[in-house]
Order: sequence, then C-alpha cells, then structure tokens
Amino acid sequence: MNMQEYIEEAESALLHTYNRYQIVLDRGEGVYLYDMEGIKYLDFVAGIAVFALGYHNREYNDALKAQIDKLIHTSNYYYNVPAVGAAKKLKAVSEMDRVFFTNSGAEAVEGAIKAARKYAYLKDGRTDHEIIAMNHSFHGRTMGALSVTGNAKYREPFEPMIGNIRFADLNDIESVKAQITDKTCAVILEPVQGEGGLFPAEEEFLREVKKICQEKDILLIFDEIQCGMGRTGYMYAWQRYGVKPDIMTTAKALGCGVPVGAFLMTEKVAEHSLAAGDHGTTYGGNPLACAAVEKVLDLFEENHIIEKVRETAPYLEKCLDELKDKYECIVERRGLGLMQGLVFDRPVGDIINRALEEGLILINAGPDIIRFVPPLIISKANIDEMIDILDSCIEA
Ligand SMILES: *Cc1c(COP(=O)(O)O)cnc(C)c1O
Repeated sequence: MNMQEYIEEAESALLHTYNRYQIVLDRGEGVYLYDMEGIKYLDFVAGIAVFALGYHNREYNDALKAQIDKLIHTSNYYYNVPAVGAAKKLKAVSEMDRVFFTNSGAEAVEGAIKAARKYAYLKDGRTDHEIIAMNHSFHGRTMGALSVTGNAKYREPFEPMIGNIRFADLNDIESVKAQITDKTCAVILEPVQGEGGLFPAEEEFLREVKKICQEKDILLIFDEIQCGMGRTGYMYAWQRYGVKPDIMTTAKALGCGVPVGAFLMTEKVAEHSLAAGDHGTTYGGNPLACAAVEKVLDLFEENHIIEKVRETAPYLEKCLDELKDKYECIVERRGLGLMQGLVFDRPVGDIINRALEEGLILINAGPDIIRFVPPLIISKANIDEMIDILDSCIEA
C-alpha cells in the first residue's frame, strides 16, 4: 500500500476523533521523523512533549528490548524489579514521597482527584467536597479529568461532569479566593498551561495559592504532565517557582513513548488518603513501563538534559522574539523553557500545513497559537533550521 492508501484505510477503520495531518510517519532518528515515502521532517512537537530524548535512542531501545525478553507484565498484586527502581528515581527527582504509576496523563489526574477527595472525606466524613480548577486548563479527556478542564467546548457534550468543580483564573488570586468555601478540598492547576495557550503561572500567584491552601488544609495539586520532565529547565516546573504541591501528576515525557504516567504525593497526604482497595490499575506501573521510566530518568541525568534545556531555551526565546518583531501578525511570544507559544492575530492552520510541506512538524494550541514543544535534545542549529522554515511559511 502506498501512503495515500494507508490514510484511506485508517480513515475507514479508526474512529474519527482527530483531523490528522496527511502523512504516515514511519521512523525517527534524533530530532527528525521520516514518513513512509522517506521524506524527512524536523520535529518540533515530539509527539506532544513526549519524546524528550529524541527518536531511536539506542540505550533506551536496548533497555526496553531487554525488559521485553524478561517480563512485560505481572499485575500489581506482585512486586517487580523495574517498578522499584523507577519509583525510587522518580521520588528523588520530584521530591515527592509516594508514587502511583498509571497508563496515561488523564488517569494520573483521576488518581489525584480521588486522593484529594479521600483526604477530605477522612477529615470530616462529608461527601460534597469541591475542587477549584482554572479556566483555560487542560487535564485530559476522561470524565474526571474533563470535569476539571477549563474549556466548556470540551465538556459540554458530555455533561453532567463530576460535581462540585468551580473555576477560577490563573494568576488572579482574588478569583481563587472567591471560589473557596468550607467544602473546598483541592486546587488543581498546571504551573504552565499547555493546551490552553502556553500561560505560565506567576510566582506570586502560586505562593498566594499555596498560602491559602496551607491555612485551610486544602490540597494543592499541580498537573505537570506537559510542563514537567525538564521542559522548563527544571525537572518539575514547581521547582523553578519553589512552590511545592501536595499532589503532582506527571506523564508525557516520563516514559518517552511508552504509555506511562504517575501521580505522586507527600507522605502526609499518602498517610491520610488512598488506602488498600481504594484505587488500582491492571497495567499501571508494569515492568515494561517502569523499565522505560527508569531508563529515561537515567538518561536525563547522564545526558545533562536539564542543563541542555537551560542553554537552548533562551536561544529559542530569542529567535521567536525576533520573528515576532518581524511580523505584525504575531501578537506575542509566551511560555517557559522549551514550552513556547507564538500567538497570532489569525488562525495558524495554514502556516502549520505549509510548514509540514516544507519538512517541519509544528502543532497549535488553540486556533491562533503555534506551540513549540520539541525534543529536549534539540540543538541551536535545529532551532535555526526551524526558524528558517517557519519564517518562509509566515512570509508566504
Ligand atoms: C496531555 C495532558 C494531559 C492528558 O494526558 P493523556 O496522557 O493524554 O491522558 C493532562 N494534563 C496535561 C497538562 C496535559 O498536557
């Protein structure tokens, strides 16, 4: 079958929940992807902030192959070796105390919500606790995660959502205060909003939220699924702000392609929330997924990924700022680290399609924003290459 035939077959078999770009990707090498016809693309999406280490990383691939030959799955009724290593390393880099491995980001958010509700339930026995989430947030597509996602368009067709969710505005502490009641059990937010438009939280805002949460014993949940794993130049974005959450979610780059996420918590929350029988997963944290996590965390350290991001991110910012100054149709650049957005005064679909034709993979965040979430191993030369192509596409 040729590429077009594969696309037609896909469209006749897969549920049409995505308007896909008209290419069939076949293999990857470093920061480049190749389609079935051998056409090469510079990848500034990384499978949506997933493939941090780049494609075809031999050490990563070998670790997975070795684990496949040993043991892929056991269920969580037994211990397994990779889960221990992965949990220990994840605890160390996240500075949290307890880990629960999941299969996806949304599932990590579900677990975080359950932990927060259980914590509040154990305190007062009530079953009407409220959670405050942010407008423009994105936490995933399952019902619980969707319920705290601040985008009515995603939620409405699937209502009713889980109950007692109230929305406030990121970086507007008064809007948060206005939603707090004696039933509030948690505040959930992304330190840098991804899908919702690349909005970084302000440090002062996070400090204020944390202060209120501490005063009222409300749990602070940070969704670090997109902004975590080194993307902002810190292993987790909260470490940049110095504001530590009680519960944290992580996924996307955690397994660098193997589907795995986690929610983590402090010892205090762990002791007073989910207990045996309260939560579970058949696949979550299986030996293959955990072998991936363990190897990814090792490779982050060995390859000085954080240091690399701190070096390349300011360069990406500078290049994007120059582009912004050059074109009137670009309104703003915003983001943190290697998680950036260019805000246009018009839809960006045409630019992204043209870039694809020119061998550059980009993605949007909302209709008017081009999002840049490249592999974290991206070089300055790769950034120059991207800017050249993007510049010509905007020009056209
Ligand atoms: C992608 C994302 C999710 C959902 O993760 P999935 O693995 O797609 O379920 C949740 N929160 C944030 C911040 C994300 O970027």
